[in-house]
Amino acid sequence: MNLTIKNRFTAELPADADTSNTTRQVANACFSYVLPTIPSNPKLIHASIETAAMIGLTEEDIRSETFTAVFSGKKILDGTTPYAMCYAGHQFGNWAGQLGDGRAINLTEIEYKNQSYTLQLKGAGKTPYSRNADGLAVLRSSIREHLCSEAMHHLGIPTTRSLSLMLTGDSVLRDILYNGNPAYEKGAVVCRVAPSFIRFGSFEIFAARNDLKNLQLLADFTIKYYYPEIISEGKDKYLDFFKTVAGNTRKMIIGWQRVGFVHGVMNTDNMSIHGITIDYGPYGWLEDYNPHWTPNTTDLQHKRYRYVNQPEIALWNLYQLANALYPLIEETSGLEEILNAYAIQFERDYSEMMRGKIGIALHNPEDTALVTGLVENLQLSETDMTLFFRNLSTITKTDTPEGALVKVQDAFYKPEEIKDRISDTWIFWFTQYIHRINKEMASDNQRKASMDAVNPKYVLRNYMAQLAIEAADKEDYSLLEEIHDVLKKPYDNQPGYEKWFAKRPDWAREKVGSSMLSCSS
Ligand code: AMP
Ligand code: MG
Ligand code: MG
Repeated sequence: MNLTIKNRFTAELPADADTSNTTRQVANACFSYVLPTIPSNPKLIHASIETAAMIGLTEEDIRSETFTAVFSGKKILDGTTPYAMCYAGHQFGNWAGQLGDGRAINLTEIEYKNQSYTLQLKGAGKTPYSRNADGLAVLRSSIREHLCSEAMHHLGIPTTRSLSLMLTGDSVLRDILYNGNPAYEKGAVVCRVAPSFIRFGSFEIFAARNDLKNLQLLADFTIKYYYPEIISEGKDKYLDFFKTVAGNTRKMIIGWQRVGFVHGVMNTDNMSIHGITIDYGPYGWLEDYNPHWTPNTTDLQHKRYRYVNQPEIALWNLYQLANALYPLIEETSGLEEILNAYAIQFERDYSEMMRGKIGIALHNPEDTALVTGLVENLQLSETDMTLFFRNLSTITKTDTPEGALVKVQDAFYKPEEIKDRISDTWIFWFTQYIHRINKEMASDNQRKASMDAVNPKYVLRNYMAQLAIEAADKEDYSLLEEIHDVLKKPYDNQPGYEKWFAKRPDWAREKVGSSMLSCSS
């Protein structure tokens, strides 16, 4: 296994470095050196060949003993000094103070084809930031992270990647059963890959502690290595940085809204400064189009992080980042301008994205009403978001509104409700829609192709991950492999995988998304 180690973030390990994982407040530092806990019997369950190739590893490398040893935390690569990062954050709207990598350990940075990547183990044991938790991850949450990272990437949404999924051979205690017995689960480790794991909270911690020296050091480092295109100086440099982060964040959220992804825990410590999706915890996918749905069982009262709130929460989080960067800029007007522009630009991008989803390219005054009407209709009766948009592309300019409704009927969870109550509402919308697509230059086939490129056919439905988890728990990894495979080409028709292009089955309605989707499993 041949990786080009590039330790830019860390210095050489000082002889007197404290690598203990004693839980502590860590002042004046961006990270702490710490070693992964050695797993008792690591075993590779699945690796992403695409992520491996991205960092210069071959299939032969994946099969090697070294791969399993390194990406389970058993062996430390020569010339590397693993570390956990110190950051703070706002959780559910409240300041939470120091959080840090409680169960993530960065192994090293590497370089391949002029790109640098940080390799990070999640679930490899305690760090100084573990507070009162165990630093571990269980198989089910690791499968969810591994599958979803790769699915998001193939959907074209910026995300951390997942290189590998390992069993550690150790058991992890997560719940106590009703009879008082402990419920042990299989421990697992995922290796995540990203340019860096610097978060909004990485800046917030220094601002909160009034540690301006480190605040500036981190900002300068981040800009120099990750935003080298920023060439302005002084205050403008930090403003340009903030503007770029805001823009990247906006694009990421547009991607989430387009495919129906709900992150579930948009705390500022889970917001990457690269605008990539990070921390796949209690995330979920909209099945029926319910804008007020959240997968996170710890957020059911306020539903702060529900689908429809994501754009606004991202902006709220950007305000926190702006506050953190303020000491480097010392005036509010530039930051405010960027924050105000986010909201305006978001509206434009959102409307462009929705127009893409319904296949209209030319601009007409009635388009806004058409989109709003659709979003309202989708909520009248449980309607599957993915099926609806995918089938919408089969409608032609010569269809009747009644014929169009038949073409999308598979998306309705309760077809009888459509017949009884709301077919007129839909017929009205389809009348307008067919009228509207007749004004487009594109042929039916061209429109279908453009719609199918933005409306995925296959997403990681919540029950799919659940089925993969249940099989994997019994050491059957075939479903995990199949789901990973189908999600590599989410926009293509894949005849062998037609069964994954279907509504959520009835059994999954209540079962999936119950107690298992809390924050830190
Ligand atoms: P999250 O809600 O997943 O973003 O986690 C919030 C904070 O809790 C982060 O600082 C995590 O590192 C930490 N954390 C979550 N789960 C664990 C765990 N099992 N052990 C230690 N720290 C954890
Ligand atoms: Mg987190
Ligand atoms: Mg998490």
